[in-house]
Amino acid sequence: MEKISRRSFVNKFGIGVSASVIATSIPSFLSAAEPEHIPYNGKKINLALCGLGIYANIVAESMQGSEYCNLAGIVTGTPSKAIKWKEKYNIPDKNIYNYENFDEIIKNKDIDMVYVILPNSMHKDFVIRSAKAGKHVITEKPMAIDVKECEEMIKACNDNKVQLALGYRLHYEPTHLEIKRLGQEKVFGQVRYIESLGYKTYDTIAKKPVDINSPANWRLNKKLSGGGPLMDLGIYCIQVSRYILGEEPISVTAQFGTINDKNRFSETEESISWQMVFPSGAMANGNTSCGYNIDRTYASADYGSFELSPGLSYGPYEGKTSKGPLKFPPIKQQQKQLDEISKVLLANKKLPDHITGEEGLKDIKIINAIYKAAETGKKIIL
Ligand code: NAD
Repeated sequence: MEKISRRSFVNKFGIGVSASVIATSIPSFLSAAEPEHIPYNGKKINLALCGLGIYANIVAESMQGSEYCNLAGIVTGTPSKAIKWKEKYNIPDKNIYNYENFDEIIKNKDIDMVYVILPNSMHKDFVIRSAKAGKHVITEKPMAIDVKECEEMIKACNDNKVQLALGYRLHYEPTHLEIKRLGQEKVFGQVRYIESLGYKTYDTIAKKPVDINSPANWRLNKKLSGGGPLMDLGIYCIQVSRYILGEEPISVTAQFGTINDKNRFSETEESISWQMVFPSGAMANGNTSCGYNIDRTYASADYGSFELSPGLSYGPYEGKTSKGPLKFPPIKQQQKQLDEISKVLLANKKLPDHITGEEGLKDIKIINAIYKAAETGKKIIL
C-alpha cells in the first residue's frame, strides 16, 4: 500500500489551506503513516557543556536520546556540580574541566564542540578560548554584550577554522518555522504590522516566581548581563519580527518603562518598548519586562493575520491564523537544535547563515540601537 505522508496527502488532495491548519485537522490514521525513521548509528558530535546552570540542565536533559550529538564533557567552576554531572551523565574525568584549566581541552580529541551557557558577558571569552582549542562552538543568546565582542568572536572562529553557532532553539521549532513561512511566503499577503511581547516572571507550572528575578541573579548585574529583559527575552521578539518579515530593520525608536522595583532594577531596565521600521514599510512593536507576564506574537498582513500566545517561552505554543488553528506537536527543542547543527558539522558543511555568529551580531546591533534610542529619545538609523 502506498505510504501517505502529510506532504503527499496535501499534494494528492490539493488542499488549499496552510500547513498549520492541516497540522491540527489531519486525520490520526495519516499521522501514523509518517515516513519511517531510519535510525542513525554513525559518528556523533561530542559536546562539552560550559556552565552548568538552569539552561544547561535543560539542554542536557533534552539532548538525551539525540542521534547526532553526545554529552561528552563539562566545564564548571563548581566542584560539587562536576561530581553530580559525572554520575548523572556518565562523563569521564578526562572530559571534566574548570574555568582555569579549560584551555587544556585543545589536547582532548574526544571533544568536538563546546556549548557556552554562561552569563552573557562571559560568552566572548569562552567562545574565543574554544576556537583557539580548535573546537566548534555554540554560544547562548545574546551572543555577547556589544558589537565589538561579537566581531572578535567571529574572527577567532574564522581564524581557527571552526564554526560558530547561536543557541537559537526556535529556529528549529515547527510553529516558528510555520510563522516564518506564513510571513516570508506572504501567505496572507505582505505583513504590515508585528507585535511581539515577551517575559515571564511567574512560573505557572512550578507555581512560584521565576528565579531570574531574584536579587542575586546575574541578569540584574549589568556587567554580567549587558542589560535587562531586552538582552534576555527581547532578543526573541526582535528575532521573530526579523524572520516573519525576512527583512532587517532600518530604524528604531524606544522607551524605557517604569521602574517599580528600584532595588532590583538599579542597573538594568525593568521594562522597555521599541518600534522597528523595515524596508517594506512594515512596523514591529516590541515590549519586554521583568514586571509582568507576557508571551505573545501577532502579525497582521494584507489579507489576514496569525498569532501565537504563548509563543516565545519553552512551549507548547498556542496559535491561530485567520483561517484556523495553528498548533504543532511539541518537540524537544534543544535536542532538535543540537541534532541539526551536528548533522551539518558531521557532513563537513557550512552552518546555515540564520544560526551563525553573523546572525547573533545582527541582533546585538539592533539591541544596541534600541538602548541608544531609549537613552537619547531619538530615532536611530541602522
Ligand atoms: P544560570 O544563572 O542558571 O547559570 C549560569 C551558570 O554560569 C551557572 O552554572 C553559574 O555557576 C555559572 N557562572 C560562572 N561564572 C558566573 C558568574 N560570575 N556569575 C554568575 N554565574 C556564573 O543562567 P542560565 O539561565 O542558565 O543562563 C545562561 C545563559 O543561557 C545566558 O546567556 C542566557 O541568556 C542563556 N539562556 C538561554 C535560553 C534559551 O532558551 N536559549 C534560556 C535560558 C538561558
